[in-house]
Amino acid sequence: MNNDSLLRRSLDAVWHPCTQMKVHETLPLVPIRSGEGPWLIDFEGRRYLDAISSWWVNLFGHANPRINAALRDQLERLDHVMLAGFTHEPVVALSEKLSALTGHALGHCFYASDGASAVEIALKMSFHFWRNSGRPGKNRFLSLAGSYHGETLGALAVTDVALFRDAYAPLLRAGDTVPSPDGRQAGPGQTPRDAAAAAAVALEAYLAEHHAEIAAFIVEPLVQCATGMAMHDPEYLRRARALCDHYDVHLIADEIAVGCGRSGTFFAHEQAGIAPDFLCLSKGISGGTLPLSVVMTTDAVYAAFYDDSTARGFLHSHSYTGNPLACRAALATLAIFEEDGVIEANRRLAAQLNERAKALAADPRVRDFRNTGMIWAFDAATDDPLFARRFHQAAMERGLLLRPLGNTVYFMPPYVIGGAEIELLVGGTQAALDAVFQ
Ligand SMILES: *Cc1c(COP(=O)(O)O)cnc(C)c1O
Repeated sequence: MNNDSLLRRSLDAVWHPCTQMKVHETLPLVPIRSGEGPWLIDFEGRRYLDAISSWWVNLFGHANPRINAALRDQLERLDHVMLAGFTHEPVVALSEKLSALTGHALGHCFYASDGASAVEIALKMSFHFWRNSGRPGKNRFLSLAGSYHGETLGALAVTDVALFRDAYAPLLRAGDTVPSPDGRQAGPGQTPRDAAAAAAVALEAYLAEHHAEIAAFIVEPLVQCATGMAMHDPEYLRRARALCDHYDVHLIADEIAVGCGRSGTFFAHEQAGIAPDFLCLSKGISGGTLPLSVVMTTDAVYAAFYDDSTARGFLHSHSYTGNPLACRAALATLAIFEEDGVIEANRRLAAQLNERAKALAADPRVRDFRNTGMIWAFDAATDDPLFARRFHQAAMERGLLLRPLGNTVYFMPPYVIGGAEIELLVGGTQAALDAVFQ
């Protein structure tokens, strides 16, 4: 096996995601043979720093020995068992641990295998809660401008990305959007908190008029990742929580990207001192090893389904719901957080990266350099429609995997990078900007 032969076979047999396949006539696929810590390695031994954690999933490096040991152990005991009518140790232990991490505000965990399915579940549960409560008219959902919640039909209906949504518009019952609290919208003399407060005023106006038909408001707390790493002040979440309480609307925190320490706290909503009614997790929850997602909710929501009537129950299911291997990977991931004091260590890591990135942040080609926890982003001062692709290629040539969203360059590295990797990340970004702007 070598790079070229794998590449040819892939283009013959595999339909790759999020891709117009014709671009691969000129942009080569990157064959990867192995992963090691924050590095991806091809068949010729070329190494790439995985500075976006393989689509934001990898927390503690590839082939992590602690997660792998847990998986080997689990594989010898129980690979899978259906979760309807059966239970097993990993799913129970994981549910208990996750609930404890919310301070038991969210006492019940429902499982699926990917983020979009978690969003579907939260939407269905919210609607069904209101239906069981005698308010079936609450059957619409509200999201933020520029929201991204996944691409199955229900999730797409609350995703505000024209490129992903427009082709399927006839299939969707699209929800409304309210203005994003994006801190970049702060006017002269304003702070990001002012921008958050202004967006909260718009949310209040919307809910005052429409609350009777709104089941839930879904948000990506602190960072709207997929649509350009738009960051907002936690004040928005405090106001949204109060408004949702006032108007009897569920608050769904989609922490699929920002959960698991990515925002600087284990859950992003912690920074606002609030608890959502539903919390969606996926991506980092298994440390990036196996597909797993979870929807956590309150005892009050759970109680509204608990009844002699089957139809009042939540009958949703996926074949691999609560897969023991994936749950073990998640338990091993949570154990690393505890044993290594990861949240604290990440604060030091982030400070180190910010220090090294000072010149980059001040670069005239760099606009709105911003940071939340273990996410960094800036907008390149260019209108080149091919910027993302050209920057990606320039960075790859320097052994650095970055994949801009339009002209937004972002870093979302695994939490195991050290000084040398920070040097490559920042220095490689500056060199890639030089190459693209020359
Ligand atoms: C990635 C993502 C999803 C969808 O998760 P998939 O596993 O890709 O289906 C949903 N919401 C947010 C905020 C995400 O970043």
